[in-house]
Amino acid sequence: VSGNTSRTAFQNPNAPSPTANTGAVIPCLCVTEPSHGTDAANLEVRAEPDGDGWRLNGEKTSITLGMNADTGLVLARTGGAGARGVSAFYVDLDDRHVSRSPFDDLGGRSMGRASLHFDGLPVPRACLVGAEGAGFVSVMRGFDYSRAIIGLACLGAAQASLDEALQWARDRQAFGRPIGTFQGVAFPLAECATYVHGARLVCYDALWRKDNDLEHSAVAAMAKFWAPKLATEVIHTCLLTLGHLGYSADSPIGQRLRDVIGLEIGDGTAQVSQLVISRHLLGRAYAP
Ligand SMILES: Cc1cc2nc3c(=O)[nH]c(=O)nc-3n(C[C@H](O)[C@H](O)[C@H](O)COP(=O)(O)OP(=O)(O)OC[C@H]3O[C@@H](n4cnc5c(N)ncnc54)[C@H](O)[C@@H]3O)c2cc1C
Repeated sequence: VSGNTSRTAFQNPNAPSPTANTGAVIPCLCVTEPSHGTDAANLEVRAEPDGDGWRLNGEKTSITLGMNADTGLVLARTGGAGARGVSAFYVDLDDRHVSRSPFDDLGGRSMGRASLHFDGLPVPRACLVGAEGAGFVSVMRGFDYSRAIIGLACLGAAQASLDEALQWARDRQAFGRPIGTFQGVAFPLAECATYVHGARLVCYDALWRKDNDLEHSAVAAMAKFWAPKLATEVIHTCLLTLGHLGYSADSPIGQRLRDVIGLEIGDGTAQVSQLVISRHLLGRAYAP
């Protein structure tokens, strides 16, 4: 989090600086609302003026780490309709004006998701991040980075599953031979390895372009559209290669599959990624 965040914004004066990167403060990003996911620019949580600051009212939902986060970067409406009326606030979540309720998810269980209810949370001016009305655009820019990172995280899960499936193809015997000698087993794994390699290069390209201050929204969207979907397909193929053992909860493969499916949705679905790519290819005039 950058901008005009300040330690004075926190009720706990001993809390580590939010920029220290020590891991001592767990933050979360609060964009999604019950009625606005993909259509995030129309969000309804309001920051009402109150003295020199604001009070936050409304509900954010589907927030990763929502039950455990100390702080949240919350997008809220300070102005009129649309993206330009949205500001970002970095707030303390351990406040009596915030209540939380957990989700029971298929995957991603180590982090979990939650709904956060803001009931008049006081927000001093020091908690405003960036300029008033600029919150939406700056958070969306952050997605151009996180989407490539999420792609790599999914491909890591795919690669681990592929490594296990390849080892199983060497070790497991059927009809008196290792199953890896059957093309029906080996070729799907060869195909998976090829696509994983390609998708990984797309993710690296997005990050390289960002590091070199080049336009990278479209490539990051390609990474987000392709890598989680591919990882889901690859892990599924690996599970089938392991036969009945792959279907057991004793195998880590099922957990990986459930985890990467969540990342097909979080940070933007395949459809929204494809909207970004299409807009880049065709021009803004062709955006729906
Ligand atoms: C594991 C996970 C973690 C998450 N973590 C966070 C978090 O930390 N913070 C946060 O704020 N949110 C988080 N989210 C929420 C996530 O960002 C939203 O779920 C996502 O943006 C989609 O919104 P939605 O679920 O409301 O779906 P909707 O927007 O209701 O969409 C439903 C379906 O319609 C499609 N659709 C919608 N509009 C269009 C269109 N114009 N063209 C084509 N198709 C369209 C979507 O792609 C989707 O398939 C998380 C979600 C998951 C699953």
